[in-house]
Amino acid sequence: MRLKYQNGFIFEGHTFVVDKSDIRNAKDEQFVEGVALLPEVHGRWIYVPKETDEGCDTWRCSVCGARFVTEFGFEEQSFCTECGAEMDGGEGE
Ligand SMILES: [Zn+2]
Repeated sequence: MRLKYQNGFIFEGHTFVVDKSDIRNAKDEQFVEGVALLPEVHGRWIYVPKETDEGCDTWRCSVCGARFVTEFGFEEQSFCTECGAEMDGGEGE
């Protein structure tokens, strides 16, 4: 498994987050900038036509299965906002 360095914040000295808003009601001074070594995850968006009744396009993350419903194109999203997987196809090394 490949690892990558991820810049983020350490909350109260023990919890690593990329986005400070992941921890509710936390104050800025409770964070320090930090770096974590995380597994490098690659995935891709799986197009699921007409999964919903609204007629919108649906995409699923191939890593965590998170579902995103869009009315417009979705290609500009380069990573999964749920699990952080990079959407570069997951092939090639
Ligand atoms: Zn995901």
